[in-house]
Amino acid sequence: MSNVYARSADSPPRAVRARGSLIWDETGRRYLDGSGGAIVVGVGHGATEVTDAIAAQLASVGYVHGSQFTTEAVDSYAADLATVLPMKDARIYPVSGGSEAVETALKLARSYHLARGEDRPVVIARTGSYHGNSRGALAVSGRPSLREPYTPWLSGTRFVAAAYEYRCPFPQAHPDGCAAEHARRLADTIDRCGANRVAAFIAEPIGGATTGACVPTPDYWPRMARVCRERGVLLIADEVMTGFGRTGRWFGCDHFGLRPDIMTLGKGAASGYWPLGLVACTGTVHDAQPANRFVHGFTYSHHPAGAAAGHAVLRLLRGILGGVAAKGDRLATALSAGLADHPHVGDVRGIGLLQAIELVADRSSASPFPRRRRVLEQVTRVAADDGMVVYGSTGCANGADGDLVLLGPPLVTTQDQLDTMAAKTIRAITEVLPR
Ligand code: PMP
Repeated sequence: MSNVYARSADSPPRAVRARGSLIWDETGRRYLDGSGGAIVVGVGHGATEVTDAIAAQLASVGYVHGSQFTTEAVDSYAADLATVLPMKDARIYPVSGGSEAVETALKLARSYHLARGEDRPVVIARTGSYHGNSRGALAVSGRPSLREPYTPWLSGTRFVAAAYEYRCPFPQAHPDGCAAEHARRLADTIDRCGANRVAAFIAEPIGGATTGACVPTPDYWPRMARVCRERGVLLIADEVMTGFGRTGRWFGCDHFGLRPDIMTLGKGAASGYWPLGLVACTGTVHDAQPANRFVHGFTYSHHPAGAAAGHAVLRLLRGILGGVAAKGDRLATALSAGLADHPHVGDVRGIGLLQAIELVADRSSASPFPRRRRVLEQVTRVAADDGMVVYGSTGCANGADGDLVLLGPPLVTTQDQLDTMAAKTIRAITEVLPR
């Protein structure tokens, strides 16, 4: 818990100013923000369009409770957001972050089935996944090291393998048959639970935090979605990390024509200017709720300033989104060119401005470093000393430990800054792991 309650010698640097893709600390050191924090900041630091919108909202209606009032901020944001979401007749439930969104989505799924007279106690999730740190979100997160201390509390989830091309769980079917195998296993898992027992399948359309920018094959989502649809299982797309332009489209779902029943959103929604999360669901899921009302709520749900922040970000993204795919290609090309022949780089992968580098002890066997070597931590520190912030994960999509360097810079990062970010990342990896 160091650096939570009191500043100590191990505390991270104190940030005093941030603009665009740059952060300055109190000593005057400048950092390139290669990760937008925890892959959060899309529209860049210091966006006055967003800070002005929040200030104006706080000055007019700072807070009302969602059960007592609605606001123009929430109503207009929800209506505008619905126009870009990949679902019909989308309804929006604003909360304060990704974990709250996942908790809400799980309850919404169960409540939907109960209202239709079905109990459906089980949720299916994927190994290696991360959906949040609160109890319900952790219950559907497939990373053993995060779950372990709390397992007595985490029940009701069955896991299927993640779509993880680098270490495909079905090597005998790889590459053309693995999506079919994933779908077959999902169908088996649902069927083994029993008819009408599974409420939902939750997954990131493109694996983010723990799975590290894992892009599934084009036929993965159509097949998985069909299995769910045929069995009345709701599909929850967790787009907390991949939403709002991060992958070069509005949402990760958009790359696959995927139309989920429920979506969870956060991070880039308000670009870090306000702790905003959102749940979106189809009109069908919404209208099935008892007496058309979902019994749920948090003190800060439907916060007007969060909605104002989200709406300002949405407007800015309309002008930014078109350039993200090309920027992502540039970053990916630079990283691959510098690392393709590195003996400890197993995989460089990603889409848009979500890129990952998976570090391995041995490239031919893809075996990870033992966690005690703290490779990721060393890379992160060396990069920071060189004025570059990288994010990372110490987990792999198969649930095992690993060292994954993640880059997710603000979507407004310039081409020159992207080149420098790639160069600094390559330098940090090579310094920690010489060729
Ligand atoms: N889902 C996904 C896919 C995430 O990446 C995260 C955060 N890394 C969460 C949920 C939880 O979000 P939060 O940290 O805002 O609670």
